[in-house]
Order: sequence, then C-alpha cells, then structure tokens
Amino acid sequence: MAKFIFVTGGVVSSIGKGISAASIGRLLRNRGFTVAPMKLDPYINVDAGTMNPFQHGEVFVTEDGAETDLDLGHYERFMDVNCSSGSSLTTGKVYSSVIAAERKGDYLGATVQVIPHVTNEIKNRILSLAKEQEADIVIAEIGGTVGDIESLPFLEAIRQMRTDLGPDNTLYVHVTLVPTVGPWSEVKTKPTQHSVIKLREIGISPDVLVCRTDVELPSDVRGKISLFCGVPPEAVIESRNAATIYEVPLMYDEAGLGEYIMGRLRTESRQGSLGEWRSLVETLKNPRKECRIAVVGKYTSNGDAYKSIEESLIHAGIPNDCRVQIQWIESDSLEHGIPPEEFLKDVDALVVAPGFGGRGIEGKIEAIAYAREKGLPFLGICLGLQMAVIEYARNVCGLVGANSEEMMENPPYPVIHLLPEQKHVQEKGATMRLGSYDCNLVNGTLAHNLYGTNRITERHRHRYEVNNDFREKLQEHGMTISGVSPDYRLVEMIEVATHPFFIATQAHPEFKSRPNRPHPLFTGLVAAAVNRRVSASAAV
Ligand code: GLN
Repeated sequence: MAKFIFVTGGVVSSIGKGISAASIGRLLRNRGFTVAPMKLDPYINVDAGTMNPFQHGEVFVTEDGAETDLDLGHYERFMDVNCSSGSSLTTGKVYSSVIAAERKGDYLGATVQVIPHVTNEIKNRILSLAKEQEADIVIAEIGGTVGDIESLPFLEAIRQMRTDLGPDNTLYVHVTLVPTVGPWSEVKTKPTQHSVIKLREIGISPDVLVCRTDVELPSDVRGKISLFCGVPPEAVIESRNAATIYEVPLMYDEAGLGEYIMGRLRTESRQGSLGEWRSLVETLKNPRKECRIAVVGKYTSNGDAYKSIEESLIHAGIPNDCRVQIQWIESDSLEHGIPPEEFLKDVDALVVAPGFGGRGIEGKIEAIAYAREKGLPFLGICLGLQMAVIEYARNVCGLVGANSEEMMENPPYPVIHLLPEQKHVQEKGATMRLGSYDCNLVNGTLAHNLYGTNRITERHRHRYEVNNDFREKLQEHGMTISGVSPDYRLVEMIEVATHPFFIATQAHPEFKSRPNRPHPLFTGLVAAAVNRRVSASAAV
C-alpha cells in the first residue's frame, strides 16, 4: 500500500512550497521509490487552462493533455516523472464530480455535504492516483496558505487520511517562513508558531517543518520552534535561499530530511545516491562558459509565466558547461519604432515564446526578422513557429499582409489558420489540441540531427496550424518543413537551412526538459549561442 506525504504552506504564499514538495520527491526517488506527485488547488476553475498567465503563471501541460498548475512542472523536473491529469485536482473538478454524481442519483436520499461527500471525493482521487501510478509514495501539495477559506475541504480530507491510514503511512510537512526583522536581523519564530496553531485548529499536527529563511537558524531558534510547535528538533529543517533551486534537495538531504522521512514512514532506502544530481548542481553553480539568450513574450512581467522555458534554458546550459542568462523582452516594446537591434544586439540567441491573441505579435515578427537576417540563433515555440512562418511569408515569399486567422479576420494570406477539428469548437476549457502527439522528422534536417531520431513525441497546446495551401510556396523560397505529423497533414517543425540555427516547433518542448535530461532543441540553441559568442569575440 502507498504512503502519503502532504505538503501545506503557512504564513505567506510564494515561499516555495512547490520546490519543497519537488525536492522531497527527488530525495525519495534517489532512495529508489516510485513517487507520484499531486497538486490540490483550491480554486474553482476546473483546470488552469483558462487562467491568465499574468495572474497564475504558466499553464503546464501533461503528456495526457491536462492543463495544470506550474508546480507540476517542478515535480516533473525534480523527480523525473510524468504527471497525468490525475496529478492535478481542483475544487472545480471535485465539485463537478460530486454534483454530477448527485444528479445521477448516486447519493439518493442523502443530503450532499462537504463532509463526507466532498472530502470523500478528494480522498478517492488521492487514493486513485496512488493506484494509477503504482506509487510507493504520493506527495500531495495543497495550494494556498493555511487559514484560507478555500482550502479547508482539502485540509479536512488529508486530516481524515491519517485516521484512515495511520501515522506510519501519512506524513504532514508544513512549509513556513521564519523572517528576520530589525537592524540586527533578529530571527522571528512567531509567524511559524501561529501558522502551526492554525493548522492544529483544523486537526493537523505537522510532522516536519520546513523553515524558509534568509539566515542560518541558530540552534536555540530551532529548539524554540520545536518546543512551541511540537515537532522534534531533527524535523525542523532549515531551508535557506539556494544558488539554484536544484540545490534544494541536496540541502534537505544534508539537513537529514530524507532519513527522517524514512524513519517516520517506517521504511528503508532501497538504493541510489545523489551523485548525479550533485554533479549537475556543481555545473550549474560553476560553469566555464556564459551566454545570453533573449526570450520575447507578452507576459514577461510575471516571472512565472514562462517557467518551463526558463528552466529548459538553464538545463541546456549543463551539457554546454554554460551559464545561460535570460533577457526577458516584452513583445509590445518592440513595436514602438525602436529598431530590434536595440534589444537584441547583445544577445547570443533568441527564443520567441508561446502565446495567444494579437497583442505584441508584430514585435515578435520584428525580432524574428532580425534573427533570420543577422544569423542570430533562433528557437520559436508554438506561437513562435507561427510568427516565424508569417515573417517568412511576408519578407521572403513576398506575401504582403500574411497573417494568422487568430489575429485578424480574413487576412490576405492566411498562412496560419484554425485546425480543421477546431472549427466547431465553442467551449474554451480543455478544447485545444492538447498533450502528446507524434511527429516524423525529415532526414538530414537540423531537427533530425538534434533529436538523433526520425520519430519524436512532444506535448502540444494550440488551436491554429500552418495552412497547407502555403507549404509549397514557403518551401520554394527556402523554408524547410522538417517535422510533420505521421499523416503528413500538420506542420510540426520548420527551419531555414542557410541560417546557422533557425528552428521552430508547433509543440512545447519546454515541458519535457529535465535537468538530468535537457531537451535537444534547447541544448542545440545554447550550443549555437555559445558558438556565436566565441566567434564574435574572436572577430574583435
Ligand atoms: N495561439 C496559438 C494557437 O492557438 C499558439 C498557441 C501557443 O503558443 N501555445 O495555435
């Protein structure tokens, strides 16, 4: 039977609960366990697909096409596992099921209530994930902060699970903030104490406290936290800001968290060491090379909106022994008549990010034109591919006014148009072309060379595609269609062979990159960026 670790957060939001859960997962994976991560989100949206990235950050897409919270991205990257739609549970999903069951008559005669109907639904979903993924251990993170009204049914459900399964099979980890105040940076434990009191009011006593702090916690402070919160001193884990998030599992391990969890769950490590992880962290911290890559997007003011792209670029630095510095560029800012070289002259490569709607697209097209003409390495992702095709159609094929049907009605040359299967779709939730699809790569292309295979699988999230009526025209003018769906209907990848590195994909490669398995498109881009930097400095 599976064991369950529940991760809650206290004091303030955004203290890295997701990274904590993911890091615990890494420690367990290294000890040979099959781990299934899960996020329980208290919002009423059924999934994150309809949320604005400005507010909520990136929408992460799983292999099976679920549009989820970005924390699932952290889980996949740290634990090197694939999540599924069952890995993400929202209040919206829970209530949809409970209400549908009530209408069907499943609860005939009963008054349907939060306890037990809603809490049972939550518990069943957690237990089903353990079964579906044949997990030894499920790590379930509860979104929000203890004390929020919305998260109460989730907290009640996990409280009941201790009674159902016993203390050897359940563990509560509470991630909390230990701030410093005043001119002498005095460490304050009171917010943590209050947060634990809040948790206890609900009936949960934490087993482990992960204390986010800027400073080393003196032993008397740890003792105080232990005493007031009823957690043994060895389970008060200091969690300082790390040079890279990938160092956090190493810090937890040194603090003894892995072994403590083993003891508490009455289980034993099966194998493994953190050696490989340690060495990638070492490269991340002390690389020998450096490059600067611009990412043009329309939500760059939210640091989380392109999380997976950011992490993929960082991962790609590892095999290249290179620190990748990212320069975020808001696409609108390229639209005010300032020439693109003002933004791009100091960068070694360009990524054009995914997106929806017309705002900022002309800026993206400007940036792509600059990269194409100047030989600047370029990777276009999803909307980035569509914009690269529009740029090529306009500026190389001479199709003046070429555009996407998403951006304007009846463009003179609709080089990007709606996927045929989308024509009758009315609802917005979970109706895009979503999740994993196969793609065949053409021999001898850059894509084929980078992936090292003819058949790839990537995750998708789009409604529009390259219009096949323009395939020939684009190819006649030198664009290579290097990846197509197995039925040849859909253009998946394009490139320009005369350019040092110009490639775009309709998919989202960023969702599959892991620090221990960086994605070939990003690795190739960073290698091209490093080359460009080296040749530029040789030319000086
Ligand atoms: N808006 C485009 C489409 O729906 C691109 C989507 C994306 O970049 N994820 O096809």
